[in-house]
Amino acid sequence: MMKYYSTRNKSTKITFREATLKGMPDDNGLYMPEYIPNKINLLKGIDSLSFQDIAFNIANSFINKELNNSQLEDVINSAITFDVPLVEIKKNSYILELFHGPTLAFKDFGACFMARIMEKFVKDNDKHLNILVATSGDTGSAVANGFYDVKGINVIILYPSKKVSAIQEKQIATLDKNITALEVDGTFDDCQNLVKKAFLDQNLNSKILLSSANSINISRLIPQSFYYFYAYSQLTDDLPVAVSVPSGNFGNLTAGILSKFMGLPIKHFIASTNANDTVPNFLLTGDFNPKPSVQTISNAMDVGNPSNMKRILDIYDNFQMLKEDVSSWSFSDNETKNKIVETLNDNKYLLDPHGAVGLLGLNKFITNKKDDITGIVLGTAHPAKFSDIIEPLIGDEIEIPNRLKRILDKDKRAIYMKNSFDDFSDYLLTNFK
Ligand SMILES: *Cc1c(COP(=O)(O)O)cnc(C)c1O
Repeated sequence: MMKYYSTRNKSTKITFREATLKGMPDDNGLYMPEYIPNKINLLKGIDSLSFQDIAFNIANSFINKELNNSQLEDVINSAITFDVPLVEIKKNSYILELFHGPTLAFKDFGACFMARIMEKFVKDNDKHLNILVATSGDTGSAVANGFYDVKGINVIILYPSKKVSAIQEKQIATLDKNITALEVDGTFDDCQNLVKKAFLDQNLNSKILLSSANSINISRLIPQSFYYFYAYSQLTDDLPVAVSVPSGNFGNLTAGILSKFMGLPIKHFIASTNANDTVPNFLLTGDFNPKPSVQTISNAMDVGNPSNMKRILDIYDNFQMLKEDVSSWSFSDNETKNKIVETLNDNKYLLDPHGAVGLLGLNKFITNKKDDITGIVLGTAHPAKFSDIIEPLIGDEIEIPNRLKRILDKDKRAIYMKNSFDDFSDYLLTNFK
């Protein structure tokens, strides 16, 4: 059975279930599988497999025996209920659209999969699991929607009042059933402090079962490898493949690298970043110097200290090998805006700011190459989520997808809360068992 270790201590050997429910090891490392399964056999005839078939085959190697086949099928079929189109925007250049899930961003893959996995793992518990999430916007909405109506689990999501976008607030605060949104009179840091205090509070923890749904949970990473294989299955030529990944915390790139080590023939990765250039600098100098994040228009990538680099460096103990497989460049907001306009004019394709950073990276890589390659950019978010940035650029309105329209019509049902731990704790004890 596949075991998991901490990047800080390779002798920890725990099960997938334990790694998922714990989220993060106590030693501040991240969980990793003890080996990367070889999936070369999956490549034969992969073009006739569905996304769900591919997902099952890969997931089974990471979770083997901890869920039986029908449980795992159930997880995949209930988590991935949306399309994953590979769109050719010009010859040999593709966008893999990962934004057709409930919150219109690729984080839906990880959040939905993790939610369904946890549902299976807690199903025999006699107590509900109460997941606390502090969010500045996107992660919280993906988690809330991923866990919506999942049995045995409540999600309590704390967001800073008036500090998330209108769309994000709708995505967080209009859900009913097992999802509760707390609108906190404070900042994101205040929300995070309330959650941290709750995890440390003995009285609270003796009465209700608390857990987290951290973005670095191993069960959020594994499903992100599914779509690298799926994208490959859609290609019709045999050119070498390069994938450009718009990167912030580098989870998506980690999943791509895992896929390559599983045997997927990806020749090269481009880690495309905005002004937050910690990793481009690292690949240039060999020094990893995290710094405070700076704000950009591709704000889901505003990360100055990308946590998944621990995993990438765990896979590549050789810096030279890492540099051979991965290039990384940083792009400014101006370059990003110009790319959005140019791609709409030249290719009739509307990118969101994150995808535009990705295409900038791919193009920079291709310009340096003599031979033809197939380039894939991960389209991580739907442009409608960033209409405030894009509409002034293109002088036109962006059509809102129906599933987002439906949310915009719903009423907010958040519970307003002072930035007070006593109030928060009372609320939890009164409402959750
Ligand atoms: C989270 C996010 C990213 C960055 O992904 P990482 O896995 O953290 O590198 C890129 N684009 C969008 C739209 C995101 O929400």
